Amino acid sequence: MKFEELSLASPLQRAVRAVGYETPTPIQEQSIPSLLEGKDLLGIAQTGTGKTAAFALPILQKLLESGNFRSPKTCRALVLLPTRELAIQVEECFKQYAQFTAISTACIFGGVNDGPQKRNLIRGVDVLVATPGRLLDLIGQKAVSLKKLEFFVLDEADRMLDMGFIHDIRKVVAMLPPVRQNLFFSATMPDDITKLAATILRPNPVRVEVAPQSTPIERIHQELYRIDKRRKGALLKELLAAHPEMQKVLVFCRTKHGADKIVRVLEKAGVKCAAIHGNKSQTRRQEALKNFKDEQIRVLVATDIAARGIDVDDVSHVFNYDLPNEPETFVHRIGRTARAGKDGVAIAFCAPDEEQDLRAIEKLTRVKIPEGDKSIFEKLPPPQKETPESELRNARGRHQRHPQAQADSRDRRHPGRSAATDGAQADSRHAQDPRQGNASGSRSPLRGSRMTQENGAQGAVVPSRPHDAAGHSHKHRRNRPGSRARKRMREGGSFGG
Ligand code: AMP
Repeated sequence: MKFEELSLASPLQRAVRAVGYETPTPIQEQSIPSLLEGKDLLGIAQTGTGKTAAFALPILQKLLESGNFRSPKTCRALVLLPTRELAIQVEECFKQYAQFTAISTACIFGGVNDGPQKRNLIRGVDVLVATPGRLLDLIGQKAVSLKKLEFFVLDEADRMLDMGFIHDIRKVVAMLPPVRQNLFFSATMPDDITKLAATILRPNPVRVEVAPQSTPIERIHQELYRIDKRRKGALLKELLAAHPEMQKVLVFCRTKHGADKIVRVLEKAGVKCAAIHGNKSQTRRQEALKNFKDEQIRVLVATDIAARGIDVDDVSHVFNYDLPNEPETFVHRIGRTARAGKDGVAIAFCAPDEEQDLRAIEKLTRVKIPEGDKSIFEKLPPPQKETPESELRNARGRHQRHPQAQADSRDRRHPGRSAATDGAQADSRHAQDPRQGNASGSRSPLRGSRMTQENGAQGAVVPSRPHDAAGHSHKHRRNRPGSRARKRMREGGSFGG
């Protein structure tokens, strides 16, 4: 099928050509005709399938056709997303697809001054892309109203629930006018998402399910370097020096502090790089990301939380500078390369205390990662002897990263304690401040992933049901979804707010 067959208005056809799309992706082919007929849609799909154009193009077409005009402080279409990064990306897509029309767009998200966002809404907009917290905030301030809404899109619904936005979503839905077209997208459909969809969509929506285009593990060339923690920076530096073909390099590490340290080491070696993590301002993160996309910098160092939902094409190399202690996170990380039929390389550094993580990764992916060229070690300084202090530090790090070790030692201290308390233990990891950028605290959408045969059948890993908010421990009440503490996190951190 060609885009011309989708009966889209000529300014939209022109925009599609301008962005370089030739044929619609499966989700676009299946969704666009039904959406143009005015039907509600339940889309089971994730980022990477082309779902943004699947909903943006028909919405733009219908906005053009309807003959209505935007009124001050209102919007005609609302797209709700969980994070700022996603909101910005989706608004960018709308802008691209609407570039040959007079349709206006705006994007609102938390963690930044609301003044400019309010000013953008004064005259009203056709398409508003928002994160829930800031939207409710601006509705409360009467900067925008939803009473003229014609189209409502809830995107990344499972992530929204995972991040504790359910109450905010319900509040927004309660404000929507009864007559509207609804689009609901989620990567997974556990019971709570199905129930939420039923409260938003009209009966019998069109259901479109598209397998994620996750990268089959086999297409990624993997290498492993066993290296002590202290020499990881030197190894990264040497590998970058020895391989000029490493041009668009994403380095994942566990902590914000670690990310900054890597940047210092690389900058000293003359490598153009930047870090993105929760301590960086939104502007700095956007700038780093743009420079990386435009290849102004060679290396982007990221924590998992900061990298969530970021869509960068053509990443040539992914480094796991620190191994994550959740194997699904590893798969998520390396899936950033070898996209869209391209080749990609994933390089893992494994310190002695990360062997356990490595085993878990190899078990999940069913791939034994081959060791890289050992001659590179000749260029490194000799390993330093561990001091009693560094050994203690390593042991402490190991202990914190492996809750089972904590549980074991707790069991030794409290032999009578039941296994039932382990849920609370696991939850305390989930409940960590996500701005810490700590992989163990990250709420990876791939949590609980499973190997599937349907999705690529070559060991591609797709998300199963994300961690259930209902599983949160009473011991950690202050971080339960919807609590004030979580709201504070969302507002200040990398979450949308
Ligand atoms: P999405 O799933 O909407 O985040 O899209 C993932 C990527 O696919 C984005 O970089 C889009 O620009 C790109 N894309 C979307 N639709 C098409 C298409 N029909 N042909 C080629 N690329 C596309």
